Amino acid sequence: DQAGLGAERAAAFDAEAYGDPSGNLSIIGDLMRALDNGEFSLSYQPKYDLRDGRITGVEALARWTHPQRGFVSPDVFITIAEETGHIRQVTDWVLRRAIVDQQRLAADGVELEMSVNISGRLLGDAAFVKAALDLASGASGKLCLEITETAVIDNADAAIAAIERFAEAGVKMSIDDYGSGLSSLAYLKRLPASELKIDKAFVMKMDAASRDALLVKSTIDLAHALGMRVTAEGVETDAALALLKGMGCDMAQGYLIARPMSVEALVEMLAGAGSAAPKPRRRRA
Ligand code: C2E
Ligand code: MG
Ligand code: MG
Ligand code: MG
Repeated sequence: DQAGLGAERAAAFDAEAYGDPSGNLSIIGDLMRALDNGEFSLSYQPKYDLRDGRITGVEALARWTHPQRGFVSPDVFITIAEETGHIRQVTDWVLRRAIVDQQRLAADGVELEMSVNISGRLLGDAAFVKAALDLASGASGKLCLEITETAVIDNADAAIAAIERFAEAGVKMSIDDYGSGLSSLAYLKRLPASELKIDKAFVMKMDAASRDALLVKSTIDLAHALGMRVTAEGVETDAALALLKGMGCDMAQGYLIARPMSVEALVEMLAGAGSAAPKPRRRRA
């Protein structure tokens, strides 16, 4: 079966590799089992609309609690899933669960846009794109796919075609972690996305006079000129929030507003108020 093959492949990969210096490779074999064993869950981090002060969406963030190792960071297991060919299964699971939770939230009177992280390479996977389009067309709520790791989009034509099909189906596309690593102007030029997320590395260091603030401001203007919505991630201070608002940034995400949380905590935070949350959470508490 698929999980068995995955485990075999993982074992081979493990042995061939570099003696597992990081201690990470030995968890590859556990990854597929983890999905079946219910070790995966999703945390949801609110996206806050700076223009009207409402929580209008959430981002689904994958969580893995390993029975022996405890919490494993998504930066670790997503990278491993990408490198071992398991990212498709992980993403299918995340997408399904996120849509189920979005419907559950809607039943509680909370209508939110659902953002799901998608590895860039999956845009070139025709079977994934078809499955995701089917899921999206069956879902009643708004969906946004945040493209991470854009550097591995080696087949740009296929990626652009996929993004256009998603757009026709009403699914938004977002370029995640913009400005960091290898995601660059080249992607803005090539990918017809509707949202740009400024990497937290710039937002966290921002103060009014800094080079980071200049870079953030000019990125916002650039994205707006291209017709894109802008979300700043890593908003941790009132000063950063005020600065972003003054710069005309559309949306903000960060620990100041809310940390990633369970769907139950999200309902508690937002139900009753509908999707309106007039103040960042820290001040409500
Ligand atoms: P990301 O998509 O850029 O998500 C933002 C990360 O920043 C999350 O880390 C979030 O918890 C963290 N964060 C949010 N606000 C703040 C803040 O104010 N300060 C600081 N210091 N950090 C903040 P997390 O959950 O550990 O996820 C890390 C990355 O793993 C994500 O970055 C994303 O690239 C990837 N990831 C997570 N879930 C998935 C998934 O289902 N699929 C894929 N392909 N990637 C995923
Ligand atoms: Mg993201
Ligand atoms: Mg990001
Ligand atoms: Mg990131």
